[in-house]
Amino acid sequence: MTIVTNWVKVSVLVPCQEGTRRCDGFVLVRRAESQRVQTVTDDKLEALLHQPNLTNNKERELRGLLRMLDSIRKGDSRKTEGLGLQLLEIGKSLSDKDGVLDEEWRVILHDPLKFVVARLSDLASSAKLVLWQDQKNDVPRVGMLCATTLDALYVLALFRVEERSESVIGKCRICGKEFPCRRGKRRQTCSNKCRKQKSRRNRVQESDQEGRRMNSDEEEIV
Ligand SMILES: [Zn+2]
Repeated sequence: MTIVTNWVKVSVLVPCQEGTRRCDGFVLVRRAESQRVQTVTDDKLEALLHQPNLTNNKERELRGLLRMLDSIRKGDSRKTEGLGLQLLEIGKSLSDKDGVLDEEWRVILHDPLKFVVARLSDLASSAKLVLWQDQKNDVPRVGMLCATTLDALYVLALFRVEERSESVIGKCRICGKEFPCRRGKRRQTCSNKCRKQKSRRNRVQESDQEGRRMNSDEEEIV
């Protein structure tokens, strides 16, 4: 999956792990050997959300933030506060001072989204914007290079906050053009024109035996 924001495509990348064969491309590094990279996709983040018995505190923190985002969106303030409290507990063990924790608790009570957004942008801040060369088609592309897979997941999590905007690319079933669409919503065509063409095509398939009595500007039922 590629992420788009206002039609800018960004791939989320990590250096290829030692011993893995999979490599998607490379980042040119000045005066050094190019760095082999692989893309990290949203599936990895999804897997983290459903993984049982997470023991790594940083992974637990990330998952807690995403769950909190979810409960904020559902308007479940009790769950939001419960998650916030757990996150502060984890934060404590990750070196935050008491004063900071008190302040964050106030933020959680008054503006929990602000807490999630601030934490996530903080966590994702080590990512570096680079150009990388896709191995398949040799075209320079924009990517966010992250040191570890966890760092890459932080970046992907940022895009989840933006989830309600158009942040995923779909491919048009009619003309093949790529277009931005909402995560989870499977729009199949890029434009009204292609949408009409697709429904016409469907109707032609349905009424094949009756012969084609098509009207080019018939109304579309969504
Ligand atoms: Zn199209």
